[in-house]
Amino acid sequence: MPRFLPILLLLTLSISSMAATIEGVRLSQSSANTRLVFDLSNQANFHLFTLQNPERLVIDLKNTQRPKLLSLPDLSNTPIHTIRYAERNKSTLRVVLDLKKALQTNSQYLAQPHRLVIDLHDTSISTAKVEKVTPVTEKIKVQPPLTIKIVTHPPPEKRNIIIAIDAGHGGQDPGALGKNGTKEKTVVLAIAKRLAKLVDAEPGMKAYLTRDNDTFISLRQRIKRARKHNADMFLSIHADAFKNSKAKGASVFVLSERGASSEAAQWLADKENSADLAGGISLEDKDDLLASVLLDLSQTASLEASLEVANTVLSGLKRVGNVHKKQVGSAAFVVLKSPDIPSVLVETAFISNPSEERKLKSSSHQNKLARAMMSGIRNYFQRNPIPGTITPQQHIVSSGDTLSMIAQRYQVTMMQLKSNNNLSSSKLKIGDVLLIP
Ligand SMILES: [Zn+2]
Repeated sequence: MPRFLPILLLLTLSISSMAATIEGVRLSQSSANTRLVFDLSNQANFHLFTLQNPERLVIDLKNTQRPKLLSLPDLSNTPIHTIRYAERNKSTLRVVLDLKKALQTNSQYLAQPHRLVIDLHDTSISTAKVEKVTPVTEKIKVQPPLTIKIVTHPPPEKRNIIIAIDAGHGGQDPGALGKNGTKEKTVVLAIAKRLAKLVDAEPGMKAYLTRDNDTFISLRQRIKRARKHNADMFLSIHADAFKNSKAKGASVFVLSERGASSEAAQWLADKENSADLAGGISLEDKDDLLASVLLDLSQTASLEASLEVANTVLSGLKRVGNVHKKQVGSAAFVVLKSPDIPSVLVETAFISNPSEERKLKSSSHQNKLARAMMSGIRNYFQRNPIPGTITPQQHIVSSGDTLSMIAQRYQVTMMQLKSNNNLSSSKLKIGDVLLIP
């Protein structure tokens, strides 16, 4: 045994020399400003975003490993409750600052030595107060208010929002079957491809298809692929089947950890999940992802996000026709178990209903479904912009607005406005939210 040790040691060394790790965290403070400096051993890329209720600042450090030992600064009398960190995946370390209140955030990365500087600014505190209360007669040296140099960088290049589109089933797993022989795997792939085209046509968005041909992929593999491509959203496309051939309409689901929201949803979850058994892979290895501390860090946030995606997608689908249920359902779908990517599963229609089976095969209906999902995706990112990406514009209809006026104002055509918002007529309602192409 001992003769293997040096080899092991070498391996560990070579890995750690590539990845960065946090060597220390420093904190300095003036009345309204708190500066945190993360000293890093090596070059690391970072991605920063905030979450509300409770207020959190999340920093994803790419190419960074979890530090073995890290002493954190004293946080009493700071606007920070706690600093937590955990591996988000093999190469990304997620640091979460639990904040006592919403703060303005500024960040900059400095090299030589590598460090990430985060400035938190409390806008409710005025820095001028100190001078006012100082009596003039006393010879007290008034400290000039701390000035924080804000280094302005050229605006960083915007990255694309990645939408992972997952066509259900494939290969030896045909999915549900229609009475006239239509296979779920075939129609959902066609819809997925149409949606991918729309996503790619959107400025600042890029689609990633977990499969683009008729092959079998395990459910876990689908999640893995989406994560590997840094997906910001995961959308799994299916077509429902039910014993009752009259059942019709689209439904949208999010993951439920507590169990399905209805018996029908449970039945559906069992059916969709059994896809892995069809491929000869059991689900017994499950929950290695979920058991980790990541869950605590981000699952609540992403479940909320998933629910919001689901609702925007569902309202898009409502506009093109039948929905099976007016509310988003929840069920324990394996394919949705990615703790940090907002994920939804769309059952586009009931393939077991002969009239819907026919529709699912028609390219015009496939396009309609894709457009409806696209408007849901767009709507979601409009309400939840990701820093460093392009946010789609929106216009809220107020009294007196007409479609042509809005088109003129944003320099787009009425046709573009209509197709972008799935509008069949030029009629507008006060309070409607229009997405500007
Ligand atoms: Zn399916």
